[in-house]
Amino acid sequence: MKNEFTALLIDWYEHNARNLPWRGHSDPYAIWVSEIMLQQTRVDTVIPYFNRWMNLFPDIAALAAAPEDCVLKAWEGLGYYSRARSMQKTARILSRDFNGKLPADFDALTGLPGIGPYTAAAIASIAFGLDRAVLDGNVKRVLARLLPYPEAVNTPAAEKELRSIAQNLLPPGRAGDYNQAMMELGALICLPRNPKCSECPVSMLCAAFKENCQSTLPVMKEKAAVPHITVTAGVLHENGRVLIARRPVNGLLGGLWEFPGGKVEAGESHAQALTRELEEELGITTETGELLGRYNHAYTHFKVTLYAYHARVTAGEIKLLQASEARWVDLTELDAYPMGKIDRMISRDLVKAGDFDG
Ligand code: SF4
Repeated sequence: MKNEFTALLIDWYEHNARNLPWRGHSDPYAIWVSEIMLQQTRVDTVIPYFNRWMNLFPDIAALAAAPEDCVLKAWEGLGYYSRARSMQKTARILSRDFNGKLPADFDALTGLPGIGPYTAAAIASIAFGLDRAVLDGNVKRVLARLLPYPEAVNTPAAEKELRSIAQNLLPPGRAGDYNQAMMELGALICLPRNPKCSECPVSMLCAAFKENCQSTLPVMKEKAAVPHITVTAGVLHENGRVLIARRPVNGLLGGLWEFPGGKVEAGESHAQALTRELEEELGITTETGELLGRYNHAYTHFKVTLYAYHARVTAGEIKLLQASEARWVDLTELDAYPMGKIDRMISRDLVKAGDFDG
């Protein structure tokens, strides 16, 4: 089956592959950028980010030399900001220790910040032609249906087994095309719901198609329920400007700017939580004013509802107790500061309201 499967798959890919800006690039840097951006993010979303990124930072040296704020700003809206920070860290290591180039070696690649087995296999195969199979969600789904694979695919044991199956199917010397073809089949034809089996080039070899059990595969182990937390943030006003603080580099949304605040603990009112958080974070005493808005966002491991309030400082000088920087800025300047989703929504609402000066 192996030879027939890969021949059909690669032939289909050669005739049906989407024309994406990173395809046809032989530059390993461009392939690396696209693979990192595509993690957890849809192709349509990535395309403009990729094009802008390659204009701003056309090579590893440019990325290594860029100010971190520019890198985070170019990433704003893609989420999972540690990916951008790790890329810059890696670009600096490559500039210092690898002659400014990505190494053509799987193990050396996985030793770099932000490059795990998936990304290393993608770069190794697509950029350097090394025989390394990738395993992402699309590939897992295709394999689970093709074989079929009756166990849950989202466990470490299944990852290991499926990676080895993907590797065994790989036709030597064609790893780049094979990997991209598997991912493309999963993205365009072998869809999570309602796979387009009538258009599938490998349907005659697919066990799930024969047994008509596509909708039951892949099996997923249920994930624990995602906690939901309530957060408050303060929009502190002074002479027409608002205060923004920079989060510490390590941790969620590290290095991004925000309207300061934090989690509402059990038994606290929003105003009490905000007063406490602003004192803990910036050493200031504040008075909470009107609600500006309520914002929802889902992160990978939890959901947030954030209540943003207008507020003012009533006592104390700003101290950086839990923030790495703090600045009073005009509303017109807010857009220049890299922010996460919710803080950008708050910032846009403030700009829209425009004339508020609490
Ligand atoms: Fe997926 Fe259907 Fe093709 Fe099987 S036949 S690999 S289920 S699209």
